[in-house]
Amino acid sequence: MESRNCRKCEICGERKLPKSGLFLAKFPLDPDRCRLWVKATGNEDLVNVPIEKLHQLKYACGAHFVNEYFNAKGNRLVDTAVPTECLAKPPLSDDLLAEFPLHVKSYYDKKSAKKRTSE
Ligand SMILES: [Zn+2]
Repeated sequence: MESRNCRKCEICGERKLPKSGLFLAKFPLDPDRCRLWVKATGNEDLVNVPIEKLHQLKYACGAHFVNEYFNAKGNRLVDTAVPTECLAKPPLSDDLLAEFPLHVKSYYDKKSAKKRTSE
């Protein structure tokens, strides 16, 4: 509750102040892409956060995206954008992310046929 206006980059910790022009992108709702974003943060805690929450509450700043991930105006990311630049921590291992996303059942069911054979 104490920090509701405080958007910050999950990768480098850069905060968006009211008048700063810092570009912050929401985490994507697409599970495959969101997984890559979480991986890039190097933050294990995010693995257990539902995608909807990541999308609502978590951001990555523009410093982590190469130019071709921005649209022509440079004010939005394209659908395939994944943070790859200036990562502050080593990416998470694929093991950690094997069960991501944990909370999006409808998405998960669609994808479960190809993975998830080892239980
Ligand atoms: Zn950042």
